[in-house]
Amino acid sequence: MTALRLKPNAPALQTESWLVAAGRPAAPGDPLNAPPILASNFAFDAEAGYARDDGTQTWRALEAIVGGLEGGEAVAFSSGMAAASAVLDLIPCGGRVALPEDCYQGVATLAQQAHERGHLVVHRIATADTPAWLAAARDADLLWLESPSNPLLRIADLVAICKAERKPGALVAVDNTFATPLNQQPLLLGADLVVHSATKFFGGHSDLLSGIAVGATQDLRHRLAKCRTLRGATPGALESYLTVRGLRTLALRLAAAQENAAELAEFLAARTTLERVRYPGLESHPDHALAKRQLRGFGTIVTFEVAGGAAAADHLCKSLQLVRHATSLGAVESTIERRAAIPGQEHLPPGLVRLSVGIESIADLQHDFAQALG
Ligand SMILES: *Cc1c(COP(=O)(O)O)cnc(C)c1O
Repeated sequence: MTALRLKPNAPALQTESWLVAAGRPAAPGDPLNAPPILASNFAFDAEAGYARDDGTQTWRALEAIVGGLEGGEAVAFSSGMAAASAVLDLIPCGGRVALPEDCYQGVATLAQQAHERGHLVVHRIATADTPAWLAAARDADLLWLESPSNPLLRIADLVAICKAERKPGALVAVDNTFATPLNQQPLLLGADLVVHSATKFFGGHSDLLSGIAVGATQDLRHRLAKCRTLRGATPGALESYLTVRGLRTLALRLAAAQENAAELAEFLAARTTLERVRYPGLESHPDHALAKRQLRGFGTIVTFEVAGGAAAADHLCKSLQLVRHATSLGAVESTIERRAAIPGQEHLPPGLVRLSVGIESIADLQHDFAQALG
């Protein structure tokens, strides 16, 4: 990866320092933080006129931080779905898209709609079925990967899939929301595009919607930005400001939540009323060896099944007091939900819950599960 430098001749920075220092105004007298620019238009000068076309200083701060983290060229969007839509928009009409079977529901529905309208030909592949991905690479125009996957936390062999012989011009995109660039940098493994729901770990406080796509080249950046301009998928000023603010503490939050998740996964795996505790860091995880090779950390999401099915799982979600019964993930607070209750996810085991572990005290989290499991 090219080193993280604030200026061409500045010393290279570690990720933790980059998160704190990147994207700040640098001239004497400037505020330390890029302010939320509440403006649609600017007095003409050489480059900027209208915010939807040219962006703002607030978006650029966010794009500078995330572009550096992923080792590419970032474009900020209004949400993760807007970023995903822009990536699908890169594929010509009638193009073939390979999508994981276990995949963010919004992306799956979006692709399915494009398929039904005849815009794209979509087929689904199991995340961990590497031979099927290698075969798909020969005729797909886009391989869309999500690893770890949602909600089963399967791991795709990104290195093998990115190296596969591809149809000329074919793109590999990775939804890196669950891993974050601190745990995995797909562009450095050979992917062309990375997508984030910045609503999750980047924002980190469940108080905004935001998304980012990162291209490996200037050309991809240009095409993504063009799509943002024409589709009007523009980020809000306040949301971009808050996403930058969230990123400043990402390394600390992720480390704390990840440590909690590892301990809680062991704790839950030892409970007799819970089954199939899934966490890539557990040796019992089917992709543990690959996860160890590919990820710098195993993430903050733990999935498990409650014996007794849907009713018992709903009861657990409602009996927890510190852990909030709510959707979404990647925030400072722990949240839990039963996934088969989500429209489009009915195929999942009825008692399967997804837990997003936050930064609370591990002792309090364990007590909460102990009292709720009674
Ligand atoms: C939440 C999420 C998205 C969609 O992002 P929004 O910001 O909600 O539009 C996409 N992919 C994954 C893995 C997500 O968790």
